[in-house]
Amino acid sequence: MGSEAELAQVADEVRGCTRCPLATRRTLAVPGEGNVLSDVLLVGEGPGAREDATGRPFVGPAGQLLDELLRAIGWARADVFITNVVKCRPPANRDPEPAEVMACSGYLDRQERALDPSVVVTLGRHSLQRYLPGARIGDVHGSLRRAYAGLHVFPMYHPAAALHQASLRETLFRDIRGLPAALLAARQALADERAGQVRMDEAVARVEDRPAPMDDTEQMTLFQEQ
Ligand code: URA
Ligand code: SF4
Repeated sequence: MGSEAELAQVADEVRGCTRCPLATRRTLAVPGEGNVLSDVLLVGEGPGAREDATGRPFVGPAGQLLDELLRAIGWARADVFITNVVKCRPPANRDPEPAEVMACSGYLDRQERALDPSVVVTLGRHSLQRYLPGARIGDVHGSLRRAYAGLHVFPMYHPAAALHQASLRETLFRDIRGLPAALLAARQALADERAGQVRMDEAVARVEDRPAPMDDTEQMTLFQEQ
């Protein structure tokens, strides 16, 4: 399946999902949205009230700040893909529970595979935990990190945190200004790895293409006569 069709398929499944108890309290599930060709995936925590009402990610106050952050580097929402660790709103915006995160993780796995982004931007703790378990946001925010399966991660504080703690606003703007360079660095690292793999494959092919030496052939003949 092409990535666009797979992303649409995931969205359809999420809208009808009943895999965890959050299904019973939601108005609308929020699968995520954006540019299906984007090289950058933003992953938040979970839908809030406005997201639950509209079925779209980051459309409330935190979303407005996210729009401002993207604008600060000349990007728009339409340039990235945005989703969350859990696709249904936790009641009263409580933290998602580990069992809910686990129940929902297969959807994010598939969105990642379909998009194959060079960089995943984590927004907040829950998203960070998925990619860099045990990492502390205070240590890693605003820097490019390597996560599992060749993914590069650029951790950021959650925009909602800056709505309560004004000093984080400045940190968020400082961090996001490093994102374009981090994206280029991640692309370069991935290209270098791919080139290394091609060189390795070519070397293996050259060895395999070589005609078998005479001695080997004779040995094989001897072996067959035994
Ligand atoms: N906060 C999130 O983590 N995700 C949203 O979609 C909105 C607010
Ligand atoms: Fe399904 Fe995820 Fe919603 Fe739970 S949060 S019901 S697993 S889509």
